[in-house]
Amino acid sequence: MEVYVDNAATTKTSQTAIAAMLPYFDKIYANPSSLHTPGQNAKEALENARARIAACLGCTPREILFTSGGSEADNQAIRSVAHAGAKKGKKHIISTAFEHHAVLHTLKRLEQEGFQVTLLDVGSSGTVTAQQVAQAIRPDTCLVTVMYANNEIGSILPIEAIGRVCREAGIPFHTDAVQAVGHLPMDVEKDHIDLLSLSAHKFHGPRGVGALYVRRRMPLENLIDGGAQERGKRAGTENLPAIVGMAAALEEACANLDAATRVTALRDKLIAGLGQIPHSALNGDPVHRLPGNVSFCFEGIEGESLLLLLDAQGIYASSGSACTSGSLDPSHVLLAIGRPHEVAHGSLRLSLDWENTQADVDHILTVVPQVVSYLRSMSPVWRDLQTGKRNFIL
Ligand SMILES: *Cc1c(COP(=O)(O)O)cnc(C)c1O
Repeated sequence: MEVYVDNAATTKTSQTAIAAMLPYFDKIYANPSSLHTPGQNAKEALENARARIAACLGCTPREILFTSGGSEADNQAIRSVAHAGAKKGKKHIISTAFEHHAVLHTLKRLEQEGFQVTLLDVGSSGTVTAQQVAQAIRPDTCLVTVMYANNEIGSILPIEAIGRVCREAGIPFHTDAVQAVGHLPMDVEKDHIDLLSLSAHKFHGPRGVGALYVRRRMPLENLIDGGAQERGKRAGTENLPAIVGMAAALEEACANLDAATRVTALRDKLIAGLGQIPHSALNGDPVHRLPGNVSFCFEGIEGESLLLLLDAQGIYASSGSACTSGSLDPSHVLLAIGRPHEVAHGSLRLSLDWENTQADVDHILTVVPQVVSYLRSMSPVWRDLQTGKRNFIL
């Protein structure tokens, strides 16, 4: 049996998206910037995709800029607004300690340019409040960037309330909504969002394509200089097949949001079952949580060994984010919610999707407790915990 539960890292491209893309490789292949008829047909397909994506977010097509993915959208949003703020003498940015690295590393770079960054504490429940944001605002604050939902521990943040605080203070508000778009209902007007990043491969579209929603009159600088594509803000011939596939996948995901109820039920069975393992703890908020996210820490084991043994049993999961695997540092997200290093190392993230079944859940609930016990039986740390040489944390 094979169970793919790493949908927060990437999803399978849907058949709908693949079918939508195919004609754009060999039939409608002209450059949208070309003036001839095939070029204009390609241009029409490009603008049609833009309008369909805008409709899913509740904005106008002119407010959608195509990018190479979520990372580029985050970079462009944050740099643009920060640099516009600096021109007015405002060099303070508010964000959170558990953002994706596409945000945190961009902020690090801005710090080197002389910006000051306040990273709000996300506490043990893994969220921030609108009040925390309000209290951090200074006269020189030029940007608030807070993620819609966390990719490792699944918490959904109070974006509408944070957006309102920012709008009232007149401060541009960006949200990295890569984990939320296609999984939760989206309305940039209702949530008072000024800039929003999304990525197609997190909602069954192709990888290497994404978009940035930019409210009218928000400043926008280009990361890539060159031709006049995307109204001069993002040079380079458009990846039309991928853009069309993204629009098809987003429409499909938005029409399918009801499936979240079924995914949530599977998620809660997993959470209840894994919670039976002694000295384990759920990471993140149990209620305000992405439909498919299950994140646990198990004391006395190494997440990497757990993943390898699960892989051998056909369970394809992750310890944190794909971006931190391959490094031995524990996840900055788990440290931010207050998990000590030794506990943060024993993490497991299962991210479910509408294709997962009750049989998948049963398989996971059979295998994970066995593997955890097996690893503990070999662990010197676990022996020390048993003999009282070390104290249990969980
Ligand atoms: C995956 C992810 C990104 C990066 O998106 P890419 O399209 O892979 O560049 C950014 N933020 C979050 C929260 C993500 O989950």
